[in-house]
Amino acid sequence: MTFSSFSFDQRIVAGIKACGYETPTPIQRNAIPVVLEGHDVMGLAQTGTGKTAAFALPILQHLLKDSSPKGSPRVLVLAPTRELALQIQESFIALGKQTGIRSAVVIGGVGMNPQIKAFAQSRVIVACPGRLVRLINRGAIRLNTITTLVLDEADRMLDMGFLPDIKRILAQLPDKRQNLLFSATMPNDIKKLADGILVNPKRVQE
Ligand code: AMP
Repeated sequence: MTFSSFSFDQRIVAGIKACGYETPTPIQRNAIPVVLEGHDVMGLAQTGTGKTAAFALPILQHLLKDSSPKGSPRVLVLAPTRELALQIQESFIALGKQTGIRSAVVIGGVGMNPQIKAFAQSRVIVACPGRLVRLINRGAIRLNTITTLVLDEADRMLDMGFLPDIKRILAQLPDKRQNLLFSATMPNDIKKLADGILVNPKRVQE
């Protein structure tokens, strides 16, 4: 199988080439078609398997078809650590280089004002739950235009105690949206979280 079987827009094909990807990894083969079809997804995948592109590529493809005003954030990716959030944003930037789709990170340890500004100008928001909740509590951002939610490394987010923040964020999102949950492990608390968020999910793994 090659990436051409997904019929991505040429601008995304260019991003894949620029990243040097030749063939999709197993998680990409399994996840990309179901995300493109708009299903909710429960993805079991470790880091290093190519899971970031497995959600970033179909999300970029959907965003190219989105004609809503440019300043409305559409995609929210939650990640447990700053490092992971920055890596995910880098993937969106590299794969989406030819698309003009902008992304912003919302993470602790750096000034809030530039993040608030970038938030309002971006389609994709990659955030750590704690900092995002602080911005919500300040009334600095609104999540009412989000149509896709990704929870990446969900098991790590729960281990780090982010469940209350995740619930606070979920309460701000529109009900009608696509949900993708990725986790390296599937303990009971992840199953419970998935049951509360995902609607008729397709299960995919590496
Ligand atoms: P991830 O699991 O998303 O952290 O990705 C692990 C690494 O694999 C990253 O350095 C990606 O750039 C790389 N990668 C992702 N997909 C592919 C692919 N289809 N072919 C080659 N490398 C890839």
